[in-house]
Amino acid sequence: MLTIENLHVSINDTPILKGINLHIGEGETVILFGPNGSGKTTLLYTVMGIGNYEVTEGKILFNGDDITRIPAYERARKGIGMSMQRPPSIHGLKTRGLVELCAGKEPIDIESLARKVNMEKFLDRDINLGFSGGEIKRSEILQLMAQRPNFVLFDEPESGVDVENIALVGAMAKELLEGSPEPNGKHSMHELMHTRRTSGLVITHTGYILDYIAADRGHVLYNGHLCCEDNPKRILDHLQKYGYQECIRCLT
Ligand code: ADP
Ligand code: MG
Repeated sequence: MLTIENLHVSINDTPILKGINLHIGEGETVILFGPNGSGKTTLLYTVMGIGNYEVTEGKILFNGDDITRIPAYERARKGIGMSMQRPPSIHGLKTRGLVELCAGKEPIDIESLARKVNMEKFLDRDINLGFSGGEIKRSEILQLMAQRPNFVLFDEPESGVDVENIALVGAMAKELLEGSPEPNGKHSMHELMHTRRTSGLVITHTGYILDYIAADRGHVLYNGHLCCEDNPKRILDHLQKYGYQECIRCLT
């Protein structure tokens, strides 16, 4: 579904990603680990097509189409969605308005979607303005639920979220990736199982999200290079025992 070939990305002429190769098939969920500043967010933004990231070499293919240079809204229309690590607050844009935009022409029941993530009271507030860490992540999830992307990028969905909210965010991330456990009225369960083939690329720092979602494999991004390919829980276990410094051994 997503193929990244020899991707080099710079910010203000500083190389950040230095030749990334990654393939994520239909229905696959891949976990990305990496120390602060290794380029994880840069990779997700570059796939989504936002920010001042310059692709200096390589390309990104989505379902066979070269999307390297197309605008973010076209990528969203092709079915790519993203939950940001630190989304901006926007004065004058109500959460409700943004969720409606995310849904596009699809009819949605905003109130019942919002109820699933305890966001009913936030619909008529400016997006993210004064929201707590957990509220911001729930708002990101709500937008994704409205958009229904078939490829989801999650940038540290658990960061800044307290324990109770992690369970909710984790359950909703699982639902976005694996399909709704209950039919939402528009599609039968049978249809859901056969139409939803959502894939994902999930960045985690703490690994908490691994308790909620079924991931196929994990990688470590270290100093702009991808290394390691293993069961994500094994990678996490190693990182907790030996730290990221050990990754250098695989890269040299
Ligand atoms: P991670 O998500 O892995 O913590 P990032 O992708 O956010 O890392 O950042 C990678 C590197 O790029 C960092 O050194 C960061 O300071 C730098 N960087 C990110 N955004 C910008 C920017 N807009 N201008 C200059 N440097 C940036
Ligand atoms: Mg980041």
